[in-house]
Amino acid sequence: MSKVELNKETGPREVFCGLTSIVWLHRRMPDAFFLVVGSRTCAHLIQSAAGVMIFAEPRFGTAILEEKDLAGLADAHEELDRVVNDLVTRRPEIKTLFLVGSCPSEVIKLDLATVAEKLNKKFLGQVKFLNYSGSGIETTFTQGEDGALKALIPLMGESDEEKLLLVGTLANNVEDRFKKILKNIGISKVDSFPPRQSTELPKIGKGTRVLLTQPYLSETVRDLKHRGCDIIFAPFPLGIEGSTKWLLAAAEAFNVPTLKVHETIAPLASRARQALEAHIKILKGKKLFLLPESQLEISIARFLHNECEMDLIEVGTPYLNKELMEKELNLLPDNTKIVEGQHVEKQLDRVRESNPDLVVCGMGLANPLEAEGIHTKWSIEMVFSPIHGIDQAADLASLFSRPLKRNKILTTKTLATH
Ligand code: SF4
Repeated sequence: MSKVELNKETGPREVFCGLTSIVWLHRRMPDAFFLVVGSRTCAHLIQSAAGVMIFAEPRFGTAILEEKDLAGLADAHEELDRVVNDLVTRRPEIKTLFLVGSCPSEVIKLDLATVAEKLNKKFLGQVKFLNYSGSGIETTFTQGEDGALKALIPLMGESDEEKLLLVGTLANNVEDRFKKILKNIGISKVDSFPPRQSTELPKIGKGTRVLLTQPYLSETVRDLKHRGCDIIFAPFPLGIEGSTKWLLAAAEAFNVPTLKVHETIAPLASRARQALEAHIKILKGKKLFLLPESQLEISIARFLHNECEMDLIEVGTPYLNKELMEKELNLLPDNTKIVEGQHVEKQLDRVRESNPDLVVCGMGLANPLEAEGIHTKWSIEMVFSPIHGIDQAADLASLFSRPLKRNKILTTKTLATH
């Protein structure tokens, strides 16, 4: 077992809030609507994030509480009622409506659970209302998905049927490929959560074995356990190593022989290893610093070190669930420095002192670091790109090799002109 160095840090943070996850959740469940109950800042965040990242008819909205509404809670409730009535009348295709809480103190004072309960009575049989918080005070951006999934669990029916439940949003084509591989190794009863339609929630119970596709779902896991589900602990399916061990863990839970898995994935793994070679040439020996943002940092660090031969300076994560991450931590090299939480100024000092070749960080930190000549990669790209699975290993590596390659070309050109 590897002995990583675990540290904790608290202080000023510079991360996106949980509202951001609406961008990929609404793409996954087109019949769901996310109504952000927030200020104009929230509206700007969600609109600019979505505008930049997706090209689709928006299926989220913001109930903007104007200054006059903020003066009294009665007004805030009225405003919310008005927006919901308007939405439900105009958009009959909405089947599930999430009321998403945010930071302003007036919103925190609103009891969105009670509002959802009242609305459920009013629109019984037409729309299901749920609530969770996307507030930047309580959540970092991937934790928004954890809140949304947790809110859906009480709506899931009961069944003791033996099945594998993949938990965490995946791109649809990646999910299809995983299901095909799982079927080929002999696991054919596989459901996904969240499903592609918010109304088609899988049933769960004692026969359900949960295999996580994303590491940031601690609350969801806790509630699934309470419903009798078994959790399969495994590394996450990023890179060849992670994806192979993830499939092997599923196989073990369903008594599928290890050999069957290796036989099934051998051609895929050999193609992926070949495709990785060009990226390893660029990444090998380069120093990497990961600042905390997405909770994907530990898996990404494991992939970039073990399969792409990068050197890890520091691996930040906004939150560390040791139980869910144990298998990942065991795969990291000894003495890897893990830092849970953030004191952004201290972390930036360490970045500057360690002279990294690449820093993985939030969008807010990327520009200032680039201005200092430090090369960066936005961590948000990891949640917007289909990076899971053996066949995506080269695409995952390319997210990191591309900026280094581009910078090398730029440096060569600059030197040539002097
Ligand atoms: Fe809204 Fe708070 Fe997120 Fe800012 S951090 S966009 S105020 S929820």
